[in-house]
Amino acid sequence: MIKKFAVRNIRLCTKDCLCLYICPTGATDTENSIIDVSRCIGCGDCADACPSGSISMVPVGYPPQQEKAESVVNALNLLLRSKTEQESIAAGLPGKLALAIERSNQIMAEDIIREAGYMLPQSENVRDFLKSLQQSEGFPSDKARRLLELLSENEEK
Ligand code: SF4
Ligand code: SF4
Repeated sequence: MIKKFAVRNIRLCTKDCLCLYICPTGATDTENSIIDVSRCIGCGDCADACPSGSISMVPVGYPPQQEKAESVVNALNLLLRSKTEQESIAAGLPGKLALAIERSNQIMAEDIIREAGYMLPQSENVRDFLKSLQQSEGFPSDKARRLLELLSENEEK
């Protein structure tokens, strides 16, 4: 079984087509510009050849996420709370600057959540989190169920 596969960032692609000629399996030559994972053997030749750095090699399976120390989780929670408070304050203010502050705080909050390990879709803790949302009052459980169906589990045991 291959350990990694190629993914093309279409925004960076300058369409010089080197990857099309170098790929031994034709996985890069698709109608929709998305590399065909089913044909990729993970050799990495396309990523090495791409002049614009638009191809990345992505691991098929990820190691299990490590437990976070309680002190780290507490610090992340504090920071997250502060960012969401700042986002709420900015949301109540007029003007473009307030809107920019609102959005930047939202992005930082998302980054903090991701750093805490809850937004890596392959991880078991995301699945646990979504399962808990299914039981959570007021949360649309069908959405959580749909996300669980869509997210493939590829964390190595
Ligand atoms: S080699 Fe890189 S820049 Fe050229 S077509 Fe392929 S992905 Fe795009
Ligand atoms: S990693 Fe190898 S097989 Fe996969 S798309 Fe790139 S060149 Fe083709």
